[in-house]
Amino acid sequence: MELSAQQAWTSLLEAARSELPEPTVRTWLDPAEPVELKEGQLLVGAPDQFAVEWNQSKHAPLLSRIAVERFGTPLEIVFQVQEERSQRPQMDFFVATTSEDASSKQRRHNTRPLNERYHFRNFVVGKSNELAGAAAHAVAEAPGKTYNPLFIYGQTGLGKTHLMQAVAHAVVERDPNARVVYMGAEQFINEVIESIHSRTMAEFRKRYRSDVDIFLVDDVHFLEGKEMTQEEFFHTFNALHEAGKQIVLTSDRAPKEIPGLERRLVSRFEWGMVADIGQPDLEHRIAILRKKAEQDHLELTIPDDVLRFIAEHVRSSVRELEGCIIKLLLFASLKHREVSIELARDALADKIRQIGGDASAAAQSLPSVDRVQEVVARRWGVTPEGLRSKARTRTLTVPRQVAMFLARELLGMQLVEIGQAFGGRDHSTVIHSLDKVQKEMTRDRKFRDRVDLARRELAVTS
Ligand code: ADP
Ligand code: MG
Repeated sequence: MELSAQQAWTSLLEAARSELPEPTVRTWLDPAEPVELKEGQLLVGAPDQFAVEWNQSKHAPLLSRIAVERFGTPLEIVFQVQEERSQRPQMDFFVATTSEDASSKQRRHNTRPLNERYHFRNFVVGKSNELAGAAAHAVAEAPGKTYNPLFIYGQTGLGKTHLMQAVAHAVVERDPNARVVYMGAEQFINEVIESIHSRTMAEFRKRYRSDVDIFLVDDVHFLEGKEMTQEEFFHTFNALHEAGKQIVLTSDRAPKEIPGLERRLVSRFEWGMVADIGQPDLEHRIAILRKKAEQDHLELTIPDDVLRFIAEHVRSSVRELEGCIIKLLLFASLKHREVSIELARDALADKIRQIGGDASAAAQSLPSVDRVQEVVARRWGVTPEGLRSKARTRTLTVPRQVAMFLARELLGMQLVEIGQAFGGRDHSTVIHSLDKVQKEMTRDRKFRDRVDLARRELAVTS
């Protein structure tokens, strides 16, 4: 087959559009990307495990059939998880000139457009994101005129990227000529390095200092310790700010807490509005789940009691909640079972904490991981954000390990979940931390007493 993976995929997708409902294609297939075409197989990357499973079971057979029709030869479609976007920053960048243009995007490198799911209308506001949400709306209404920059921070999976892109969508909807730059901080870093090597710094500067109306940079904590890039970022920031262009930034922690970030950048990041996004509470989680189920126009509906059941049991992040819905529906459709609490229990067994007795009563009497972080942080004289940050100073490392330990012990959280709740650490780091605390407690009596006190406070106040 003299076909590239991209050509094959484009062709299959085109045909699939006439056979599948539009929202299905948009939700499940548009975000997928062809990776490789080898004998009889097309590898396609999808954003996460759930998307992989869903696509594999629901759409791969159809695509294979289309392949026979189109290419006259059988082609197995194999979905696989795409690497994390943060590891592929070059995918994270997009410049839109007009909205019609959005499809013939002015792409540079391997660029990726704004996510079509990340509009304001799909963002559920609650206590945990009220301020950030309101500020984002204000900024979208009058770019460059209210809060500049808007700095949104919070743990991973709580909606920072969604909110930031919602601003971009809203701006482009109102003014199709607005020039939007959306990129990950790592992309910025890479481009600075590239431009230095290829001596194209002048072009780089023009691109980001004058050809931009709204500048969105995701995950600026990656600028940590990158001096040359920070210098460039500083000047870019100044040029845009002076010209009254809107800047929106996100990070996993507050500007002050980003280690190795120049003071002058910290102060600029605080010029406008700094708004955090926290963990949604139960009602908020239910509302988000409902929105997700409705938004994806999934063929199956999910009864309210099932949504509540999921919201009660899954508290790590919104991304995780979303994953649960997909997994549940996948499970239901593969097993031809109705969506019920019982089914949810089976489908989500690995995500649901079994702490004996009535699940919802158990859930209510447990502290949240936030609460664990809060209590430990206070007792060790640091901030909860610090515990969730990537910083590895000793003042933070010890209480972070203790909080992980208590999260495991009191909440029975899984290693991966704990890692996620503590700034996206991998499970081996979590294991190491639990180990460390265990050992330290047998070695150091005072330390053990201190951990005990924190444990007792959590048992009493939750
Ligand atoms: P972050 O950038 O903070 O890691 P994302 O913006 O990528 O998180 O959000 C993770 C997922 O959760 C996305 O699919 C997003 O749509 C969803 N999400 C987060 N918060 C909300 C919310 N308040 N309403 C609807 N969806 C949300
Ligand atoms: Mg993000």
